[in-house]
Amino acid sequence: MSEIKKTVLSIVLLYVLSTIVFLGILFGNWYFGEITALKSQSFLVAQKLSKRVFRVLQKEGKYARYVKTKEAQKALLQSIAFDMGRQIMVFDEKGSVVFNNTRFSPFMIPNQEGIFIIGHHLVLNSYGSPDFLTRESRSKSLNQKWKNGAFRIVIDGGNIDRFLWQLSLKVWGLFVVLIVSVGCVSFFLVRLSLRPLGQKIKELNRFIKDTTHEINTPLSILQMSVERLNASKIPEGERKKLHYIQAASKTLENIYHSLVYTSFGNLEREIKTIDMQELLMERLDFFSFYFEQKHFEIIPHLSQIFLLADSKAMTLVIDNLLSNAIKYTPKNGKIEVILEQEEKDFVLRVRDNGIGIQEDHLKRIFDRYERFDSSSGGFGLGLNIVKKICDEFHIEIDVQSEYGKGSEFVLRWKNEELNSMI
Ligand code: ADP
Repeated sequence: MSEIKKTVLSIVLLYVLSTIVFLGILFGNWYFGEITALKSQSFLVAQKLSKRVFRVLQKEGKYARYVKTKEAQKALLQSIAFDMGRQIMVFDEKGSVVFNNTRFSPFMIPNQEGIFIIGHHLVLNSYGSPDFLTRESRSKSLNQKWKNGAFRIVIDGGNIDRFLWQLSLKVWGLFVVLIVSVGCVSFFLVRLSLRPLGQKIKELNRFIKDTTHEINTPLSILQMSVERLNASKIPEGERKKLHYIQAASKTLENIYHSLVYTSFGNLEREIKTIDMQELLMERLDFFSFYFEQKHFEIIPHLSQIFLLADSKAMTLVIDNLLSNAIKYTPKNGKIEVILEQEEKDFVLRVRDNGIGIQEDHLKRIFDRYERFDSSSGGFGLGLNIVKKICDEFHIEIDVQSEYGKGSEFVLRWKNEELNSMI
């Protein structure tokens, strides 16, 4: 997936996620608000009903003679429930059930007054006392008794499954429609706003690719001409300049190969058996001018090891590690190149006693365009290329470094990945 597509997707994803949170809060409030509204509406209705029950109980008692016997209360409540077409449960002032024709057992009803949803049913729980006891009675002690231990009436407000289902459908439906619309709109908006940027990146990539192509011919001519120059025919005083031209053309070649790899990706690989010892000697020779220039001590410990690999890719890896060791090691430094077998693995170590790498930089060392030292030239591409090639050929790469003391890059061909033996 291209970088632009990834950016578009991450922006849209972030936008949609934040909208989900925002709308979630809004729609959640709506959903629970509707339920609360239904509850309070039902509470009023149910309270009216419970008052009616008390009134009937009162009237039957012909005021001041409240229906007192349990049997009479029960019979009366049964006829009230039947008359109202309601399911009710009534507790007396001592908390024992007088009458119950609901589907609930008394233990399922909470003690506090209010409206609850129990088993998809709205259930009202209200306390009350007959009017004549609280308002008309002169007897204070009796009045107090009723206030403390009033009758409790539980009314089944009916099944609200259908209501909940319709509400969920309405809320979720609108929520999904809004999220999908926001997702679509943001996708097109982000794409539209990033289009000019994408165009510029495409143009830049094309420019780099074209330039890389164009560099090829003059670079080859330069290298061929420098190689063919007969150094002995050049006056002694001018020879140093020739060496500089040679070194500069080698640096250019190095940069050119890195650019080709980054611009064109994995070119066709030619996998064949490579004598790694020979390749390393050749590359050390390639950089010999720089070693001499900086008065480096070069210590090669190279065992003869053959590997199945692509020689151009391996050259790119070795060149990048060596040129980094050269760049980031001060004059009179030391570079060790070790190729050896460790148990069943083959290992290449490029070790220097240069400036080293800070610990927090080590994690990002293989990222593209990451550079931690701007005193020497470079694009921050080298180690990224090295890592990509290592991943392609299943080579383990590790770096150990101590800031101010030096660095060691370790490449390991694990036994199980090896295609060839010594
Ligand atoms: P470049 O060398 O072009 O900057 P690289 O990708 O090759 O890019 O390296 C990235 C960074 O890692 C460098 O800028 C440098 O800070 C650090 N680095 C790489 N190799 C070494 C080394 N041998 N010693 C110290 N620092 C190094």
